[in-house]
Amino acid sequence: MSHIFLDSKKEEYIPNHYQWKPEKGIYDLKPYEVKFPVDEIKQRQPTMWRYKEALPFDKSQDLLSFSLGEGMTPLLPLDKNEQNILVKMDYLMPTGSFKDRGASVLVAKAKELGVTTVIADSSGNAGTSIAAYCARANIRCHIYVPDSTVPKKLAQIEAYGAELHRIPGTREETAEAAQRDVEEKGIFYASHVYNPFFYEGTKTFAFEIWEQLNYKVPDKVIVPVGNGTLLLGAYIGFKNLKNAGVIRHFPKIVGVQSEGCQPIAKAFRENKNTSIVENTGTEAEGIAIADPVRGDQVLQAIKETNGAIITAPEKDIKSAKKELALKGFFVEPTTAATYAAFKEYKNSILNPDEVVVMSLCGSGLKK
Ligand SMILES: *Cc1c(COP(=O)(O)O)cnc(C)c1O
Repeated sequence: MSHIFLDSKKEEYIPNHYQWKPEKGIYDLKPYEVKFPVDEIKQRQPTMWRYKEALPFDKSQDLLSFSLGEGMTPLLPLDKNEQNILVKMDYLMPTGSFKDRGASVLVAKAKELGVTTVIADSSGNAGTSIAAYCARANIRCHIYVPDSTVPKKLAQIEAYGAELHRIPGTREETAEAAQRDVEEKGIFYASHVYNPFFYEGTKTFAFEIWEQLNYKVPDKVIVPVGNGTLLLGAYIGFKNLKNAGVIRHFPKIVGVQSEGCQPIAKAFRENKNTSIVENTGTEAEGIAIADPVRGDQVLQAIKETNGAIITAPEKDIKSAKKELALKGFFVEPTTAATYAAFKEYKNSILNPDEVVVMSLCGSGLKK
């Protein structure tokens, strides 16, 4: 079984070291057969690798040597008075964010291709995660971040031995700098945005929720959206479960953006299928993506599931962080934004007794 990239015209490409983008559009992974042998899965270690028949590897046993035990994060009620509102604690991942799901798969794929050096760009957490798995897999790693990235994230990236490139200017200028070096130096681009293998890791978010809810899916999942790597992963994951015949219904996917940077939310409201560039500044730095490359895919996934996209009021993000901490959940501001949006829209988007899963995906130790 080999795993093939498709471009927007469904032309096929074998993934290699150098190609990170087709001439037009962006690569996706060609769908392949996945299975969920429940009785066997139950016997395995509590990590995301327990779903190996649904991951894009032929020999996943060898790849486990790069694992840091990621996945199978707790799913708990947000509050004891509302047992139907659950949080998925992805901030307990090895590097403190959900990005470990995607980075572990992407770095394992890079290793399979024989890659010895990678470049990635990030607003912090994706770079941290790629750096950690590269350390584990003995791959040299260059991480490009905006100069304004918070000190704790910079320190964490450097601690994993990655070479840090601090780029003045916007998040977009950081991506351009990384892509220039990828092209000029012929280095593997371990991009969480462009490389579809990243989504093959983030999809395990959906598998775990299904297993933790005793092989059912919730009515709604609420996830933050910057580039959409968690939202699209969740979408692909639920699709895998549906195609394998283990679930019948799709949960509605609700994306969260912040008031200060909401290109996808705006496009959704205006019923456009591509996102609109806009970033007026936000406390939620991890979702401050003005021009999300897969914005149209995010919109399509939300529409297909009958979902919605909501925004976090800027003024509520700090207090949402405090409020979550007082419930015992210590998260970074970007994650607090998900909760702030949830509170703002709770009455308009939730029916009573619906089962909802909200992602808490970045640790408060980072900012
Ligand atoms: C990366 C990240 C996000 C946004 O994810 P996208 O893939 O850009 O949509 C949200 N929260 C945290 C904590 C993150 O690390």
